[in-house]
Amino acid sequence: MPNETITDLDQLISRVQSYNPNADVELVRRAYAFSEKAHAGQTRRSGEPYLQHPLAVAGVLTMLRSDVTAVAAALLHDTLEDTLATPDELEKEFGKDVVHLVDGVTKIGKIPFRNYEEKQAENFRKMVLSMADDIRVVLIKLADRLHNMRTLEHLPEARRKQIAQETLEIYAPLANRLGIGWMKNELEDLCLKALKPDAFAELKMRVAKRDEERQQYIQDVIQFVKQALTEAGLKGEVQGRPKHLYGISQKMERQAVSFDEVYDLAAIRIVTDTKMNCYAALGLIHSLWRPVPGRFKDYIAIPKSNLYQSLHTTVIGPKGERVEFQIRTEEMHRISEYGFAAHWKYKEHGTIDNQEGKAFSWLRQFVEWHQDLADNRQFMDSVKLDLFHDVVYVFTPKGLVKEMPLGSTPVDFAYAIHTEIGDRCVGAKANGKIVPLKHQLKSGDTVEILTSSTQVPHKDWLKFVRTSRAKTKIKHWLKAEQQKRSVEVGRRLLEREFKRQDLPPAQMLKSDRLLEAARKSGFDSLDELAAAIGYGRVAASEVASWLSAPVAAGAPPVAGAPVAERAPAVKDEERGVKVKGGRDLLMQLSRCCNPVPGDRIMGYITRGRGLTIHAVGCPNLDALDYDRDRLVDVEWDFTTPSTHPVKVSIVAVDKPGVLANVSSSISGAEANITRAEIATSENRKAILDFVVEVQDTAHLERVLKAIERVEGVITVRRVRAWHE
Ligand code: MN
Repeated sequence: MPNETITDLDQLISRVQSYNPNADVELVRRAYAFSEKAHAGQTRRSGEPYLQHPLAVAGVLTMLRSDVTAVAAALLHDTLEDTLATPDELEKEFGKDVVHLVDGVTKIGKIPFRNYEEKQAENFRKMVLSMADDIRVVLIKLADRLHNMRTLEHLPEARRKQIAQETLEIYAPLANRLGIGWMKNELEDLCLKALKPDAFAELKMRVAKRDEERQQYIQDVIQFVKQALTEAGLKGEVQGRPKHLYGISQKMERQAVSFDEVYDLAAIRIVTDTKMNCYAALGLIHSLWRPVPGRFKDYIAIPKSNLYQSLHTTVIGPKGERVEFQIRTEEMHRISEYGFAAHWKYKEHGTIDNQEGKAFSWLRQFVEWHQDLADNRQFMDSVKLDLFHDVVYVFTPKGLVKEMPLGSTPVDFAYAIHTEIGDRCVGAKANGKIVPLKHQLKSGDTVEILTSSTQVPHKDWLKFVRTSRAKTKIKHWLKAEQQKRSVEVGRRLLEREFKRQDLPPAQMLKSDRLLEAARKSGFDSLDELAAAIGYGRVAASEVASWLSAPVAAGAPPVAGAPVAERAPAVKDEERGVKVKGGRDLLMQLSRCCNPVPGDRIMGYITRGRGLTIHAVGCPNLDALDYDRDRLVDVEWDFTTPSTHPVKVSIVAVDKPGVLANVSSSISGAEANITRAEIATSENRKAILDFVVEVQDTAHLERVLKAIERVEGVITVRRVRAWHE
């Protein structure tokens, strides 16, 4: 294929027309003119006009048979970064699509790459893909890099090596992942040349020498195979294969073998018309020469993850020399060279077919087309990970990349770095700008965490953090903190109690008698006892009484046992709730979920306010689960009937009389209405919100049934705080 660098506009346009005769070349001309003006006076390091660079990049895009939008964007790709041109200007001239592409390329160019280990590099590659919501952005970036690599010699050595290293780690693998074989190979060879110039020169020389020696031999084999194919009635091109120097050097390094051992193969490629004929050609080759065992690979039945397909085999050819064959169809050959870009098709008006204009739909379609391929899962998974955006890639200020779940916040990021940083974080900067702690991070953000030695984790953080690591760490800290505070409160309550009984508090707290009594009640230490008092599980007065009463008078009560039997606390009889096991505590039904007798409930010990009763499932209760020690099993006490407010929401047909009928159905079910709100929605529907007082869930059920029976009522439901 003609892959020389494009140097003028006419060349570029005829290339575009060669694969897309109806292309809107006016757009290309205008982009060229704009770029020429914007870059006027700028030169490259080589001394040539800067314009040669975007022109060459656009030329590479035509190698990928890109649409004119991408070609125009390639011509403009450096205008936002390096000239006075603005996005608004570009949009006015060329439309949204072109600006979007140029902007994407500029954004990727700003990612601060350095040298990384493998895993880090993989994250970068994923990030590039995830940041580019249009795959054409990646293609332009790859083309840009390819031309920069081709003209690398004009840069100082250190810079040259740096760019080559980055290309080897990020861009060549990206080209490979997208299945653009020729670009991956060229990038890798250019990298080898920049990184190990001496080794590269020697390898190149040796390959050339060997090829010269072997040229006649290869020509003979090609002729022989051509004739054999024709005689067998098989169509096919037979050719020698281009050399991939980097591949040879890698093989030598990896297998620790000499050049002669790696490069003793004559390499020949057969391109035929159908899949069946690939196997037929293979059979033919195997019938001509003996195959080398273990060297046959069927990438047609099992394609590589980038969709590469071919048959590979090595045979002992004429004169006992080994010859390596690759056999594939034209379609497979195109895919091995262009990757998914091989699938681009053009409609008459020169636009890319139907909805394929957006890269992701191309790619998705590409994936769908190949879904029937066996063993394609790896490819599918990597595409999902990269393109379906369930993760973000975020930088530390030192340039390390962290992979975080989508929706992660600076607090998640802080905990991902270190627990201490998480615990102490007071603020964050994303790309140098202060952002709130609950700010959702984006791929490519560089995040700096601001800490303070006086900061502590907050309960509220649990509402927005996304990673389980952050959640666990925050809950862990809160629990430890609760424990500490409970110990303090417990000690103070005990002190006060001792004072009340005219006992010396300081002495009493240190006394062996207290410790002994605590142990007898099942506490391992005084702190544990104090914590139990602080939590409200044990009354201070109770403990004091263990000491004033003779110890022999029977074992003191066990922790959690009904301490209030002898020192009753306030009992809220009206509410009709009792603690399992019979202990009485001050209690109140929580306002957030308004439980009704019959609902499953749970009590939470609130310091100073006794027990708060929540319905099981209430999100406020869930938020307290880090503090399990303060959760208490409770049950309804049906022996003391009481009424409870419940919110009920009704959707009804908006017509006269419905409200009156609903109201009377509620009173008919012996429930009071304490509040009513009516709103009408579109489609002539009315929404009626009532607060009704019921005795229990059975009563509520009767009320709901009664409402349901009213003519014109569409739906009726109980409203719980966490449903709204
Ligand atoms: Mn560029």
